[in-house]
Amino acid sequence: MQRTLSLIKPDGVAKNIIGEIIKRFEGAGIRVVAMKKLHLSQKQAEGFYAVHKERPFFKSLTEFMTSGPIVAMVLEGEDVIAKNRKLMGATNFKEAEEGTIRREFATDIEKNVVHGSDAPETAAFEIAYFFSTMEIVG
Ligand code: GDP
Repeated sequence: MQRTLSLIKPDGVAKNIIGEIIKRFEGAGIRVVAMKKLHLSQKQAEGFYAVHKERPFFKSLTEFMTSGPIVAMVLEGEDVIAKNRKLMGATNFKEAEEGTIRREFATDIEKNVVHGSDAPETAAFEIAYFFSTMEIVG
């Protein structure tokens, strides 16, 4: 069993597709073991995306991530990091496979609806960024 962090970004929440996204996770045999809705501060968004702080889009990305509420989830399942990334599709929705969340709902390389951890180490950091162990119920 593996765990990963999933975020529904402000554009996904604004589009009212929280249920649509969770349905896809559950349909793929993934379990939601923690979930909360929250509105990130600029500092919290910058801390979450600290690995991207030298990238030209850092300011724009962190401002977007604070532009409205998000939904944070811990997902659990076999090989869930890769499974979730497959359901999400490529970062750039124009390159994402047909039927993926980003291909269907993203409007922009930045406003791409969902975030998913990309490796076990980032998953561990990102899960702990949003949830305490007591909030995760497997
Ligand atoms: P991910 O793992 O697929 O989310 O992609 P990355 O870790 O490379 O990038 C993190 C997030 O930054 C992406 O999901 C996008 O929201 C945003 N992003 C990535 N590349 C670009 C870019 O070239 N321009 C802008 N404005 N945002 C980007």
